[in-house]
Amino acid sequence: MLQDKDRIFTNIYGLRDKSLKAALKRGHFDGTADIIGKGRDWIINEMKASGLRGRGGAGFPTGLKWSFMPKEVGERPHYLVINADESEPGTCKDREIMRHDPFTLIEGCIIAGFSMLAHTCYIYVRGEYVRERQALQRAIDECYEQGYLGKDNKCGWDYDIIVHHGAGAYICGEETALLESLEGKKGQPRLKPPFPANVGLYGCPTTVNNVESIAVAPTILRRGGSWFAGIGRQNNTGTKLFCVSGHVERPCTVEEAMGIPFRELIEKHCGGVRGGWDNLLAVIPGGSSVPLVPGADIIDAPMDFDGLREIKTSLGTAAVIVMDKSTDIVKAIARISYFYKHESCGQCTPCREGTGWMWRVMERMATGHAQKREIDMLLDVTKQVEGHTICALGDAAAWPIQGLVRHFRAEIERRIDEYSHNAHQVRPVLEA
Ligand code: NAD
Ligand code: SF4
Repeated sequence: MLQDKDRIFTNIYGLRDKSLKAALKRGHFDGTADIIGKGRDWIINEMKASGLRGRGGAGFPTGLKWSFMPKEVGERPHYLVINADESEPGTCKDREIMRHDPFTLIEGCIIAGFSMLAHTCYIYVRGEYVRERQALQRAIDECYEQGYLGKDNKCGWDYDIIVHHGAGAYICGEETALLESLEGKKGQPRLKPPFPANVGLYGCPTTVNNVESIAVAPTILRRGGSWFAGIGRQNNTGTKLFCVSGHVERPCTVEEAMGIPFRELIEKHCGGVRGGWDNLLAVIPGGSSVPLVPGADIIDAPMDFDGLREIKTSLGTAAVIVMDKSTDIVKAIARISYFYKHESCGQCTPCREGTGWMWRVMERMATGHAQKREIDMLLDVTKQVEGHTICALGDAAAWPIQGLVRHFRAEIERRIDEYSHNAHQVRPVLEA
């Protein structure tokens, strides 16, 4: 279990004074100018040494991403864009940072911006996060007032942060759709490559990072990359915010060491599974985009990128959704299918048509009104969507269904059998 001295977020539950003055006492902005004084290469090398992998879900190495930015500013300005469009179902970690510990993010934005020679940062906040946006804006205003932002600031790097409020579209969390939206266009993903480091916001070099990835950077740089790398496991280093929801006694967001075993995470922080461990049915460990796994498979698994890959799922955003035996698992996945159908931007055919198709079949599976041969057909359609779309939403729509069929095929078949024995019944309709 993570020791208190290694926690990066000192006010994640908002129990302490949220003012800048109090944050300074807790160590924020301690030596920021010195860190900046060490130069771009030192910062990027420390970030690489820390082993930090992007906390938005994909796990791309953060230091490496920063190093992709051009080393000199030409005719095009450089930008840092923070993805605070946290919309992945089950995910509520960046929300806590913006609500309660926003100076971690602001200081991180300044240092990261310096390392990529950006003088402007945009923070794109999820449309539904009204209070979070207000709290963040208050903290930014305080930083301007106290001389930590703006021209000739105390950090030694001229810097502006602009908060942009989204309008509630899940797809705007995809980094290139987010850039389109920032530019005032319809939020639709772009083809990659080119990656944003080459052609990003307004066609300029841009790095898009998740809130948590940036918020942990100042502490990493103060304490050293090797300190962060010493927590967790090789290739899965550092601390991580886990958001646990569903059928546990006490759902929570908690900072823990990467690689903590699932059972320990749930027992120590969430009071265990509702009704005891025997009552655990399944878990979606990384937000709705990753495959679910049966409870028995995950109990001893390390909660990190490699540990969860071994059981054919993923850490994603570390949004751990726990489902006990009272869950209608087929209906739960059908509901997730509806979500992806609803959020598809519609620009590529496999996703636009496939998500609707998958949802309609899932709905019939959930009510038992499908035929058994359709299970393999559904699986086949998921394979045609997966990997054949512009952005990851297509994969995200396919994987939960693949996980369901892999582990709960018998339950789908049982329903179909049950319905065929009671075929005179009126077909129930799932709520959208
Ligand atoms: P991705 O693997 O395509 O990219 C991850 C990051 O690495 C991006 O910033 C990308 O630009 C960069 N990158 C990857 N390859 C690169 C290369 N060769 N050169 C330069 N940069 C490169 O993944 P993605 O589509 O950005 O994200 C998918 C993940 O997002 C999913 O795994 C899911 O867990 C997560 N997700 C999170 C939320 C949320 O609310 N946080 C919502 C939906 C999905
Ligand atoms: Fe849009 Fe879906 Fe294609 Fe992504 S995969 S670009 S959401 S249609």
